[in-house]
Amino acid sequence: MSATTMTYRPITRHNVDQLPQFHALPPELRHQIRVVSAVFPFRTNHYIVDELIDWHNVPNDPMYQLTFPQREMLSDEDFDQVAHLMDEHASPKALKEAIYNIQMRHNPHPAGQLKYNVPTLPDGTELHGVQHKYHETVLFFPSKGQTCHAYCSYCFRWPQFVGIQDLKFAAKEVEGLVEYIRLHPEVSDILFTGGDPAIMSTEALRSYIEPLLAPELDHLHTIRIGTKAVAYWPQRFVTDDDADDLLRLFEELIAAGKHVAIMGHYSNPRELSTPIAQAAIRRLRAAGCEIRMQAPIIRHVNDSVDDWATLWREGVKLGLVPYYMFISRDTGPKHYFEVPLAESYQIFRDAYSQVSGLSRTVRGPVMSATPGKVHINGVTRVKNERVFVLSFLQGRDPKWVGRPFFAKFDDEATWLFDLEPAFGTEPKFFDAETTYSYIRAS
Ligand SMILES: *Cc1c(COP(=O)(O)O)cnc(C)c1O
Ligand code: SF4
Repeated sequence: MSATTMTYRPITRHNVDQLPQFHALPPELRHQIRVVSAVFPFRTNHYIVDELIDWHNVPNDPMYQLTFPQREMLSDEDFDQVAHLMDEHASPKALKEAIYNIQMRHNPHPAGQLKYNVPTLPDGTELHGVQHKYHETVLFFPSKGQTCHAYCSYCFRWPQFVGIQDLKFAAKEVEGLVEYIRLHPEVSDILFTGGDPAIMSTEALRSYIEPLLAPELDHLHTIRIGTKAVAYWPQRFVTDDDADDLLRLFEELIAAGKHVAIMGHYSNPRELSTPIAQAAIRRLRAAGCEIRMQAPIIRHVNDSVDDWATLWREGVKLGLVPYYMFISRDTGPKHYFEVPLAESYQIFRDAYSQVSGLSRTVRGPVMSATPGKVHINGVTRVKNERVFVLSFLQGRDPKWVGRPFFAKFDDEATWLFDLEPAFGTEPKFFDAETTYSYIRAS
């Protein structure tokens, strides 16, 4: 193995001072990092800092933009308020209160996750940490997997990371999950998500996964692991102490007849470029896992045709399957990272048109919204009206899936609820009882 061994140690606002690369930054940038990281969680690691970020190109470097806090993530007003409180050495209580207020204005639980999707057992037990939104796939948020090896600066899951307990969204036990799947023969897929389930030790992950091999869960065909570790900490699959055990666990699942799908979160082609990242891919594939790649399109990180075409091309070369290009959610420091739907579509199409058919397994741009996963199929003109052609890839109601519908073209729209119906009509298949009447958000 050519990979050098590195021990995982997070770099956060509390120890970033110790990085030589941080010291070399202009004082203004260091100040901005200190202020913004008081509001938005900041966590990176030595692999990202030493091998993925090109420090000659900071602050524009995409991996720096992806993991370090950026000044523009806060409005001038919020930035000045926090900077002022910090400079004046305000009381911890005053600072905490100001920060909390800013955080709460950034919509920590988008797409109605808490309200709509908590399943129950027949005895009425609510399964927190389990979501069952689409017929065949159950999402599971293992309580020990609610953090990541580094934090994406745009991430909407930060309440899970910053210890706001009443927003914490996690399962305590796997028994309820097993019971639920047993009672739901339509469920063929479970998706472990978080955070990042690969943050867990193999032992912990095994304790969640092994019970799923019970014979009464035969209808469960696929175990998906949604993870950014393939990009942020590929050592997890190569040199970490329990990396071999993890691969053995996957081999056991595959031997038991399950499909193990690694839903690899790859944002930028650089994440595929290092020897350790490629070693992780080789080992996972040798164990029998399929690796699919998905990520949101993010301003300053991957808002270019070339980035996406290279990502898919390099991914396919390494044996990965391009899966989704997402639109980032309607939350967090969105104004800084958002790319309008029209521009996202143009980037998708230009990149898609220059890769081989093997890369065209990718679908996008896709919004994972309250009513379902909405795919932007195209922009066209119908009877002199310029429109988006949309369809559901997944729907809260399966009847919506795969039926094209239209919205007025709008080159500034960044999310489903910015869109207006085309032709002044409403599509009849769209359930008016949802909070959306047509596409207008509540
Ligand atoms: C995306 C998603 C799934 C999985 O959908 P696929 O199209 O099968 O990948 C399941 N549940 C939720 C809530 C999702 O957002
Ligand atoms: S890897 Fe996913 S959950 Fe973790 S910080 Fe990035 S976007 Fe958020």
